[in-house]
Amino acid sequence: MANYDVIVIGSGPGGYVAAIRCAQLGLKTACVEGRATLGGTCLNVGCIPSKALLHASHQLHEAEHNFAKMGLKGASPSVDWKQMLAYKDDVIGQNTKGIEFLFKKNKIDWLKGWGSIPEKGKVQVGDELHEARNIIIATGSQSASLPGVEVDEKIVVTSTGALELPKIPKKMVVIGAGVIGLELGSVYARLGSKITVVEYLDQITPGMDGEVQKQFQRLLKKQGLDFIMGAAVQSVETLKTKAKVAYKLRKDDSDHTIDADVVLVATGRKPFTDGLGLEALGVKMSARGQIETDDQWRTNVEGIYAIGDAIAGPMLAHKAEDEGMAAAEVIAGKHGHVNYGVIPGVIYTHPEVASVGQTEEQLKEAGRAYKVGKFSFMGNGRAKANFAGDGFVKILADKETDRILGAHIIGPMAGDLIHEICVAMEFGASAEDLALTCHAHPTYSEAVREAALACGDGAIHA
Ligand code: FAD
Repeated sequence: MANYDVIVIGSGPGGYVAAIRCAQLGLKTACVEGRATLGGTCLNVGCIPSKALLHASHQLHEAEHNFAKMGLKGASPSVDWKQMLAYKDDVIGQNTKGIEFLFKKNKIDWLKGWGSIPEKGKVQVGDELHEARNIIIATGSQSASLPGVEVDEKIVVTSTGALELPKIPKKMVVIGAGVIGLELGSVYARLGSKITVVEYLDQITPGMDGEVQKQFQRLLKKQGLDFIMGAAVQSVETLKTKAKVAYKLRKDDSDHTIDADVVLVATGRKPFTDGLGLEALGVKMSARGQIETDDQWRTNVEGIYAIGDAIAGPMLAHKAEDEGMAAAEVIAGKHGHVNYGVIPGVIYTHPEVASVGQTEEQLKEAGRAYKVGKFSFMGNGRAKANFAGDGFVKILADKETDRILGAHIIGPMAGDLIHEICVAMEFGASAEDLALTCHAHPTYSEAVREAALACGDGAIHA
C-alpha cells in the first residue's frame, strides 16, 4: 500500500492536468488509468485523432479544389487510407507518450488499471489498495446511443469506430448534427463518402448562434453533405455489410428509411462513472448521471473531488483542463477559479466555427440591450488570397457600456481567432478596446478588429 496526498482517477485532459498541477504544488500524486495509454478520450479517441484526420483530408480538399487555381498543376494525390490511419495513430502515440514523459518529469506515479473507491481516502487498483488524503475523479465520458440503435463499432459506429474504419465507406449516415458528427462527417465527405446527416432538431449544432448555424449548414451543403432535418431516428437495422436507418419526419409523422454502408451515431456523450463505487459511498449524482460538485469541485463526500466530462458543464477538453488545474489549487490550499462565462467552443471543420459568451438568441431572451458588429471575411485581403472568404466575425456588445458579451466566428482559423476575444472578455474589455488595438496586416485577425469597429462607427473594409 502506498500513501499519497492526491490520487487522480482518469488521465484525460482533466485528470493528467490535475495530476501535474498537484505535483507542481508539492503534493505526492498518483494517477490511475485503465487504458493502455495516458491522455483519455481526448488524446486516444477524441480531439487529437479527429483533428489529424481533419488535417489530412483538408490537404486533399485543397489539392483537389484550389491547387490548380494557384498554378499548381498535376494529378491530385490519391488516398492511401491505411497510411492516413497510420499517420493518425502516430500522432496519438506522440501525444500519449508526451504525457508519460510529463508524469515521469513531475514524479507522478501511473497506477495502471481500473480504479475504484472502496471507502473515503482509499483507492483500489487491481489487488492494490492505496491511501489518499484527496481523490479527484476525472473519469470522463462515453458515447451515448439511442433506443433502437445497437452499436457494433463495425457498421453502426460511435466516433471511436469512425476513427478506425477498415475502409472509406461509399455511403455514411450520421445521426446527430452536433460537433462530433459534423467534424467526422466532413472528414469522410472530403475522402469521397456520400454523407447524409439525420438530425432531430430543425437546426444543426444546437445552442449555437442562429446566423452561424444557417451559414454553417449552407457551407456544409456546398461541400456535398446532405441534411435530413426534424427527423426522429426510430431504429437502425444491420444487414451483413449494410444498415438501414428508419426515421420519422416530425412535421408530418411520415416514415422513411435510408441505406448506408456505415452509420455514425453522434448523439452526444454521457458521464462515465461505472465501477467507481460511488453509490455505496453516497456521492450525489444528478438525474443525468453527472457527479454533483460545489463551485470548488468538491463532492458531498469529504476529500473527494470531481472534474471534467464526469460533472456538469460543456464536455470540452479545455474545460476539463481548467477544472483540473483549479481543483489542484484548491487541494493545495490555494485559490482555484474557472470562469464558465468565457469558455470557447470550436468546431474544426473547414471553415472553422468558434464561439464564446452569449449568443444573440440568449441576449434577446434575457431582455438585454445589445449591439452587433459583423464583418465578412470577403472583406479581408488575406482570406481572399487563401480562398477563405466564406464566413464572418460577429461581436455582441452591451448597448450602453460597449462591454463585449459574446463573439461568434465562422471562417478561417476561427478556433484561434476567438482567443483574442476571450482575453478581452476576461479583462472586461469593450468592443472599442479591441477596435483601438493595432492588428497586423494582412491577417485574419483584422476581421476581428473590423467587427469590433462595426460595433461603433463602422468597419473600414465593409
Ligand atoms: P476523458 O478524456 O474521457 O478521460 C477519462 C479517462 O479516465 C479515460 O482515459 C478512461 O479510460 C479513464 N477512466 C475512467 N474510469 C476509470 C477508472 N475507474 N479507473 C481508471 N481509469 C478510468 N473536446 C475539445 O475540447 N475539443 C475537441 O476538438 C474535441 N474533439 C472531440 C472529438 C471526439 C471524437 C470526441 C469523442 C470528443 C472530443 N472532445 C473534444 C471532447 C473531449 O475529448 C472531452 O471533453 C475530454 O476528453 C474530457 O476530458 P476528461 O479528462 O474529463 O475525460
